[in-house]
Amino acid sequence: MKHLFIKTFGCQMNELDSEKIAGVLSDLGYSLTDSPDSADMIILNTCSVREKAESKCYSDLGRLNELKKERPDLLIGVGGCVAQQEGTKIVKRAPYVDMVFGTDNISDIPGLLEKRREKAKNRVSTERRRKRVLLQDNSIVKSTVLRNHSVKALVNIVDGCDKFCTFCVVPFTRGRERSRKPEDICNEIRGLAASGYKEVTLLGQNVDSYGKDMGGGTGLAGLLEMISEIPGIERIRFMTSHPADFNDNLITAIAKLPKVCNHVHLPLQSGSDAMLDKMKRNYTYAEYKEKITKLREAVPDVTITTDIIAGFPGESDADFNKTLKALEEMQYDAAYTFKYSKRPYTPARTYEEQVTIDVKKDRLNKVIELQNSITLAKNKECEGKEFEILIEGESKRGSVSLTGRTRGNKIVHIQKQEGIFIGDIIQVRITFATFSSLMGEVVGF
Ligand code: SF4
Repeated sequence: MKHLFIKTFGCQMNELDSEKIAGVLSDLGYSLTDSPDSADMIILNTCSVREKAESKCYSDLGRLNELKKERPDLLIGVGGCVAQQEGTKIVKRAPYVDMVFGTDNISDIPGLLEKRREKAKNRVSTERRRKRVLLQDNSIVKSTVLRNHSVKALVNIVDGCDKFCTFCVVPFTRGRERSRKPEDICNEIRGLAASGYKEVTLLGQNVDSYGKDMGGGTGLAGLLEMISEIPGIERIRFMTSHPADFNDNLITAIAKLPKVCNHVHLPLQSGSDAMLDKMKRNYTYAEYKEKITKLREAVPDVTITTDIIAGFPGESDADFNKTLKALEEMQYDAAYTFKYSKRPYTPARTYEEQVTIDVKKDRLNKVIELQNSITLAKNKECEGKEFEILIEGESKRGSVSLTGRTRGNKIVHIQKQEGIFIGDIIQVRITFATFSSLMGEVVGF
């Protein structure tokens, strides 16, 4: 048995890609290890959404070069968005890399390894083949996904993105939108339910536009209804939504379908209409706010999270203050916050009026400080209340605790006790809340 170590950067789409990479390689006799030192193959599954993640990948490659000097048989692969974007440039920059494969080429890994064996000393790289849609064939999915969790699973429903926000490299790395057929998705989820999975998260760069490339028909709301019918699946999540496509049908589906969890991740990015326009987001803050108001009316206990970019080109103090005001008004449960960074191919990298790094840092700190106080207050509101949680595994805090999540996606730690197992759905009362998680006591199982 050979050992494989995968380091995953970036989003849940990349996590799912890593599970597929592990699946393909398990068919070739590789089993996963947590230790790069004992690995026969190391794969960096990269993210190019932010400059920081991309440079981290190159600095990791530098360290792997040292490891490879000590162990020349070690195989090094680079996958994911940086690989899709950079292609053979990676091998030029890091000639010790043995294979490069993009997000569309995971199924080519066995062929790449075979070529490498044939040409022992030559490096290989796949061409970009954005049109190839690995997931259209459900039989491939079943045989190639080696899942990280035993009770919750990531399921890709649409790949790529047609939105072309001016700061985002995703349409260039993952290509245009390609939705999977509803029957393929449901078959995959039926298989997951049969294997004991209780929760699925439907993934896409923009899940709200699911089905548009197939001529409409089943949209995300329709798909949620279909998946709700699958016995054994108790919870359905989806991400990421786009405010321009997030619609009344979806709000109704979340409100009326009991299995659909009460959590929506709806990236705002900025509270300034001028910035939203420059970002080509296709909504105003007022339109965004109206959708959130409707969502909260229909689903009063909904958890809402967002993404915020600080220091987009041309962002004035007044624009930035509108973002702070939006955070106050929206009262998000959590926010993923980023400094703007120039990405390849994107229009915003050429915009004049780039904000200085010091101003970006300062604004990011202000956003984080404000949101942290809101997140803590929202978590404190949970104290004394009861929630249903799905037990996902042992807590990282130690072997005496278990960790689960509420339907609103908040992490809850409980003391281990007899009769409670991973995969159980139990009722807890929150005894204490911190910024990052909740502590609970069991009140029913
Ligand atoms: S919606 Fe915009 S930010 Fe999201 S993946 Fe598409 S282009 Fe990128």
